[in-house]
Amino acid sequence: MQTWEEIEKIQPVASRTIMNSINKNRISHAYLFQGDRGTGKKEMALLLAKYLFCMNRQGVNPCNNCINCQRIDSGNHPDMHWIEPDGASIKIEQVRNLQKEFTYSGMESNQKVYIIKDADTLTVNAANRLLKFLEEPSIETTAMMLTENGHAMLSTIRSRCQIIDLQPLAPGILQEKLQQEGLNEMDAKLLSVLTNSLTEALELAQDDWFAGARKIVIQWVEMYTTQPEDIYTYIHQYWIPHFKDRESQERGLDLLILGFKDILHQHIYTDANTILLSNDPSKLEKRLITFSQAQLLTILNQILMAKRKLKANVQPTLVIEQLALQIQR
Ligand SMILES: [Zn+2]
Repeated sequence: MQTWEEIEKIQPVASRTIMNSINKNRISHAYLFQGDRGTGKKEMALLLAKYLFCMNRQGVNPCNNCINCQRIDSGNHPDMHWIEPDGASIKIEQVRNLQKEFTYSGMESNQKVYIIKDADTLTVNAANRLLKFLEEPSIETTAMMLTENGHAMLSTIRSRCQIIDLQPLAPGILQEKLQQEGLNEMDAKLLSVLTNSLTEALELAQDDWFAGARKIVIQWVEMYTTQPEDIYTYIHQYWIPHFKDRESQERGLDLLILGFKDILHQHIYTDANTILLSNDPSKLEKRLITFSQAQLLTILNQILMAKRKLKANVQPTLVIEQLALQIQR
């Protein structure tokens, strides 16, 4: 992303905070960008770095054209350093090396930037070393730390940074990102309504359990049209063994909600674009006859009620049996 206005589309608050600091000429010496994977931490850090080094700034934005902007884009600006975990953690040697490099004064200019990725993986020693570094900032050194687990950072480090909270992605943006990661449109759309975390969505997309869960739910919904008398057996044979703990049971009910919403949306919009769960839209036609709009609204309420019962620790098998029978009525 080349401008703050572009980033503003996915991270309005965070990008306005930074634009504001730039306008007031109050850029911090240390930033902590915290947010889930895919929320724009790296993009924001790189854009700010470019702005700091740019020789031809355009308002709050870098020109994206000068030699410094180009060197940052290609990852080889001599005064900008990246630190990433070496194995599972960021070690004290890495922080030491950074300090050494920074003491060779003014390679190009006095401006220096370092970006620490996965900053929550700093070992205690590395963090303490870094802390000293943060406490004696030279005027033109800017530290940017990126983390998905802000709460896991040492409070001594957090307190020295301006914290920029990145928000979970909106469903449309998450769907776009998932498609960029290679998911097909249907899967991306479904996952973007089940979670707002890119990491979790990508994990679910790879997860055999989730693929199985989806099939079981689709089949369950379909059986009300094709063989309602077998649903009780089906639940015992497939649902109960698959959804073992409360978290998975709740996810199963979320999928079931989407299964019935698909039918409701077909009643209302008659548009295949609104389908989330069912992978064979042609089958939805028959379900429209099985369920009226009023019935569907009742069913959605019953599923929500079942979710509440799970939360209240009612025995899960009982909750699902009751729900299956309620829907049949
Ligand atoms: Zn530039």
